[in-house]
Amino acid sequence: MILLVVEHADGKVSKSSREMIAAARALRREGPITALVLGSAVAAIAAEVAFSVDQVLVADMPELAQYDAELWAAAVAQIASEGEASVVLIAGSRSGREYSPRVAVKLDSPLLEDVVSLQSKGDSLIAERYTYLARVTETVEAKAPIVIASIKPGAFTSATPRANAAEQFDVDLNLPPRRLHVTGKITEHSARISLEEAEIVVSGGRGVGSAEGFTRLVEALADQLGAAVGATRAIVDAGWRPYSEQVGQTGKTVQPKVYIAIGISGAVQHLSGMNKSKVTVAINRDAEAPIFKIADYGIVGDAAQIVPAIIEALRR
Ligand SMILES: Cc1cc2nc3c(=O)[nH]c(=O)nc-3n(C[C@H](O)[C@H](O)[C@H](O)COP(=O)(O)OP(=O)(O)OC[C@H]3O[C@@H](n4cnc5c(N)ncnc54)[C@H](O)[C@@H]3O)c2cc1C
Repeated sequence: MILLVVEHADGKVSKSSREMIAAARALRREGPITALVLGSAVAAIAAEVAFSVDQVLVADMPELAQYDAELWAAAVAQIASEGEASVVLIAGSRSGREYSPRVAVKLDSPLLEDVVSLQSKGDSLIAERYTYLARVTETVEAKAPIVIASIKPGAFTSATPRANAAEQFDVDLNLPPRRLHVTGKITEHSARISLEEAEIVVSGGRGVGSAEGFTRLVEALADQLGAAVGATRAIVDAGWRPYSEQVGQTGKTVQPKVYIAIGISGAVQHLSGMNKSKVTVAINRDAEAPIFKIADYGIVGDAAQIVPAIIEALRR
């Protein structure tokens, strides 16, 4: 079977799970596509994914109420070996990247990390992944009884649900005792769509002039388009925007349909977080700015004049 570990948060199946289902379908391997749902009070999650896979395994336990790398690794390794999985798919999220190597060690399996494409070739699994700040695409072949792969968020188009729901099975797990306890959590509240989920991202850099300029130009355009907001490290370091909005090598990686870069020079560290966007639009007053080398559409001019004109045109 192909085992995929469902990611969910706040009672919702995450986009990365639907992308993993697409990756599993594309493999066209023998055996059922099996979704593993780990957590507490996850009946609704299991019911939702049942419409997209061949079977659902549910471990609904109070011990799993909070994510923990050791527990997740133990659970996934147990189910993968008991179910004789040939492939285990894990989301390339922060948590997935944390526990997938542990699963690989427990199963003595190869790990394909952060893959952007995956296909079967005979007994092997062929994966592509980005390296050198996403400037090089590497092809890797893995051959083993069980191969673990973490799937880069945004690399696959979300799978569409089917008409009929698959069967669900409860599973028993032998979990180790929890050794880490989260003792506090502060959630940042934002009415805006998250960077990872957004189809359109509007990002700003130093060229917006100030924190106020960011609100007036970047946030206003994002609101008009129903887009998420991103920022460069320069303005995060300057305290204009929170780190959660930083796009790039040391921030988030996004692959939206449209990425609008306003007053961003296009440093390689920024590009590595957004250069797989489907369409990039750059607004910069310097025609020589490196961002124009990767942009599909470019506007050379002062953002303070151009962006309000775009917002006004959209409003009309
Ligand atoms: C180890 C390391 C990791 C890093 N990680 C990241 C990362 O994750 N993300 C990231 O973004 N950066 C990262 N950086 C920083 C990166 O190298 C750049 O310094 C940063 O991206 C530059 O941000 P910027 O484009 O906002 O600023 P600048 O490079 O100063 O560019 C500002 C741009 O605005 C234009 N501009 C100015 N005024 C206007 C105007 N009125 N209208 C239109 N355009 C205007 C200018 O022509 C210029 O091109 C990292 C650096 C290092 C060393």
